[in-house]
Amino acid sequence: MTSSIAASAVVLDETGGPDVMSLRPVEIGPPGAGELLVEVHAAGVNFIDTYNRSGLYPVALPFTPGSEGSGTILEVGDAMGDAMGDAAGDPAFAVGDRVAWVGGGRSYATDTVIPAASAFPIPEGMDLDIAAALPLQGLTAHYLIDAVYPLGPSDTCLVHAAAGGTGRLIVQMAKLRGATVIATVGSEAKAELAHSAGADHVIDYRAHPPTDGLVRAVEAIVGPTAVDVVYDGVGAATFDAGIALLRTRGTMATFGNASGPVEPITPLTLMPKSLILTRPRLFDFIAAPAERERRWSETLAWVRDGALDVHIGMRAPLDEAADVHRALESRATTGKLLLLAASGPEGAQG
Ligand code: NDP
Repeated sequence: MTSSIAASAVVLDETGGPDVMSLRPVEIGPPGAGELLVEVHAAGVNFIDTYNRSGLYPVALPFTPGSEGSGTILEVGDAMGDAMGDAAGDPAFAVGDRVAWVGGGRSYATDTVIPAASAFPIPEGMDLDIAAALPLQGLTAHYLIDAVYPLGPSDTCLVHAAAGGTGRLIVQMAKLRGATVIATVGSEAKAELAHSAGADHVIDYRAHPPTDGLVRAVEAIVGPTAVDVVYDGVGAATFDAGIALLRTRGTMATFGNASGPVEPITPLTLMPKSLILTRPRLFDFIAAPAERERRWSETLAWVRDGALDVHIGMRAPLDEAADVHRALESRATTGKLLLLAASGPEGAQG
């Protein structure tokens, strides 16, 4: 067993703008009971990382961002040994196994320690970049279309930021369920990506600004109050339009704050159409091992069969984490963003 290893990690000592993050030497490990020491291949960058960095979602300082990634196990925590594969259903992990994870934190690093319960085995032949792109956004898209509002062929859904990491996966999974998808995006290039994901209708909401313009644009396609469910990761800018467009007893799934948090509302706002409002988060839909395993294996199967296209829009080395956050927060990105732990500058390609 090692004591700890020398590594590099992106660290912030105070919350704030992207510049609070810097790459510096750190000591990592050893893994404790129920933990794995992992050599990171890629850390997935997610909008939640910007909320942690800015302080919108509080974190304990100093803090290393990154809720997901992929890599190779360097060491299995002491007390795990025979306890792996036990009645609790933990999969057995060994040194050298390739794993992806979500929820372990501290992924913007060359090496990290993750809870074994946050790890998934990566099937043979699956690319480590793709594996890093799936745990957070893939499982989020899965629980939204499967559990928050179980979509079917007779449903019409509205998906905002449909060229983004999560949005483009929601569009594809909604189409796999046979639903009609209206997608919103912020540019013509992003419209192409939403179309290629299978969206039936794509609206550039910069040309039809919220709230009235966006409502009219959607109504021109499906008529008034015809949307069964809104999957809204944009938040403040789009919430009111979604409420206006929902049918009686429709569902507003507001799952993110890319444009800022939604202002408080009174429940009476929901009364005229008996609307359902939910503000879900991934970890409540993967807490049970069987549910977590089902969401992961279904998502992987879609990727393996070619039904789910994972678009990686940006790869950058760890020391460019601040630039990647700037790009994400300025709406300049599409699809999944990865920080490649072992890459030099040649890793920073689109
Ligand atoms: P994306 O890749 O979707 O990037 C965010 C996109 O939001 C932008 O590209 C942009 O697309 C759109 N956007 C609209 N307005 C703004 C604005 N003012 N500032 C920045 N972006 C804006 O990010 P993620 O896929 O990582 O996350 C999408 C959302 O989903 C986030 O709100 C995130 O918090 C949420 N999320 C929630 C989870 C949960 O379980 N609750 C889990 C995972 C993600 P465009 O230019 O097309 O408008």
